[in-house]
Amino acid sequence: MRKGSSSILAAFLTLSLLTGCGSAAQSSTAADTEAQSSSAADPEAQSTVVQDGSETREFTWPAEPAESTIYVEKIADMPEDFITGVDVSSYLSEINSGVTFYDYEGNALSPQDFFVFLHRCGINYIRLRLWVDPYDEAKNAYGGGNCDLQNVTEMGKLASDAGMQVLIDFHYSDFWADPSKQYAPKAWAGMDIDTKAQALSDYTTESLKALLDDGVNVGMVQLGNETTGGMAGESSWPKMLRLFDAGSKAVRQVAEDKGQDILIAVHFANPERAGKYKNFAYQLASKHIDYDVFASSYYPYWHGSLENLTGVLKEVADTYDKKVMVAETSYMYTWEDGDGSGNTESKETVGSDWDYAVSQQGQADVISKVTRAVLDTGAGIGIFYWEPAWIPVQVWNGEESVYKENQKIWETYGSGWASSFSGDYDADAAMYYGGSAVDNQALFDFEGHPLESLRTFEYLRRGANAPLAVTRAVVEDFLGPAGEIPALPETVSVEFNNGTAEDVPVTWKEEDLLAAAEGGAGTYTINGTYEAAGQMLDISCQAILNTKNYLADPGFEDTSTASWTITVNSGNDPVAIENDLNNVRSGNGCLKFWAEQEQDFEVTQVVHLEEGTYRLGGYLEGGDAGESPEFYIYLRQGDQIWRQDTFVTKWQVWENPEITDISVAGECDVTVGIVVKVPGKAWGAFDDFYLYRIDE
Ligand code: CA
Repeated sequence: MRKGSSSILAAFLTLSLLTGCGSAAQSSTAADTEAQSSSAADPEAQSTVVQDGSETREFTWPAEPAESTIYVEKIADMPEDFITGVDVSSYLSEINSGVTFYDYEGNALSPQDFFVFLHRCGINYIRLRLWVDPYDEAKNAYGGGNCDLQNVTEMGKLASDAGMQVLIDFHYSDFWADPSKQYAPKAWAGMDIDTKAQALSDYTTESLKALLDDGVNVGMVQLGNETTGGMAGESSWPKMLRLFDAGSKAVRQVAEDKGQDILIAVHFANPERAGKYKNFAYQLASKHIDYDVFASSYYPYWHGSLENLTGVLKEVADTYDKKVMVAETSYMYTWEDGDGSGNTESKETVGSDWDYAVSQQGQADVISKVTRAVLDTGAGIGIFYWEPAWIPVQVWNGEESVYKENQKIWETYGSGWASSFSGDYDADAAMYYGGSAVDNQALFDFEGHPLESLRTFEYLRRGANAPLAVTRAVVEDFLGPAGEIPALPETVSVEFNNGTAEDVPVTWKEEDLLAAAEGGAGTYTINGTYEAAGQMLDISCQAILNTKNYLADPGFEDTSTASWTITVNSGNDPVAIENDLNNVRSGNGCLKFWAEQEQDFEVTQVVHLEEGTYRLGGYLEGGDAGESPEFYIYLRQGDQIWRQDTFVTKWQVWENPEITDISVAGECDVTVGIVVKVPGKAWGAFDDFYLYRIDE
């Protein structure tokens, strides 16, 4: 069923709800909703009420936890109207590309059924990005879902007809806007700020009116997307504030004219950068920008701890009396790439240091914990999962021919993150255009079948039990001397699906240990077994032996600084090797920095290496580094540079930036460096650097 009258839809909804997701459902009118809620048979039951024009629908899930393959703890203090949303902006382009989505019974879902199905799984809000003109001169589409007004309207209508509200995410760009790019729409190029503010206002008014006129139930609007570094081609705050103001006033006016309640959200990324959000909120308040919701992206692998997220959002909420939410989050259930176009998070790009299991349970844990973190602010209104349905247009089997076919489909229907046609507008896309970069973070498998983790949104309201299972077992790499049995850890840290963790004894394979002891310097995989959740399970540990540290004075013990070269670009004597037991990680000395003024320095060492694969790392603590500090370590060989950014949080909390796979081609001199660019009063210390060869 594509479209229909709302009464047919309501009847259909009730039917699907009664038969789907193991959930009971009620359909009611606005007038008797309250009575039904309070007289429900089960006072503990969680429900969600959705207004759709004159229709009110109530979804009620049983109070008792579901039986599932994932464990989800019920969040008892989650308000009924808490937003459990998803961003499915790529949906239409996927369908146009021939993708089919299914329900849990294996039935193919029509577009309308698809959105009803999402609602049935506990999703109550749909977020859609909107681009001004995502086409080149010849009208070829840029891709990324081709999210122009027409397509967004069509998806917004499907969502609204399925009883959900819609968040329109104005990027104020012709294509992707994020912390690294905020290109102005082509039509606004070269405008002075007054003209641009007027253009933004007109565009906001026209688009929003059109969406509402076409029956899209817009409940919230975002002024810009991840506007951490700018918006619509402007990066100075005075100009950005002009644009925020123009957008806000336009939305308020349309809402008033149309009699529609619309929340206004601003959206930033990088909650992990100390002081950023406080400053953004301060800037917005300084010009009395009228908004309701301060939203953040939160990707667990990029954006710091959840405690920090809660803290920085709460500070804004408390200081400026705002609601807060997470506008984007997601996580991997697999390391596989579904379509031959690599994923942003893959084993190759990220190493192995993860806070959550890479599994459906891991996805459920992320959704649950992000929800908890948002609620803990005391002002949280919801979370959105980003692009859970951006799956392969055709599953890639490793064959070049299949990849070529996929490429053709992405180019034709805009179902890849970027098409080649976007290259003139977005330099990144010119080099790296391709398919879905997040198919391993979807909540549908590569062929369109829903994962159990999609039901997390329902389970947050009632809980889900699963047989006890190990979600993750972690053992750190072992670094030690060659020529003896590696003294591997005796226990492995095991995490279970119910959120508990335990250190469990592990037995390492004798013959692997002996082979490592006899094999000389090199990297060895040592296999082991442990018992948990009633099962014997396998684990392995990387033992890196004869860890000759190629760096001279790696622990900064020599205060004469003979082994390191310090270059100060600005700052009055900001950095030195010092003996300071308060700021060392080990030994007596560290590379310590502090200055009253802005600091910009580099500390380097030239090292002679043979051809091979190396690992470079070190440790850093510190604080007061402002909103956009720059800290990184690097290794340079000729024109090639390997770099890892890092940051500081507080005293004696050591970050461990590491570059794990440096391939040095041929015997040569390389430069190892530490770069710091921070404002005055920033302080900190580096210690315990290492450069190991790992392929011998
Ligand atoms: Ca992919």
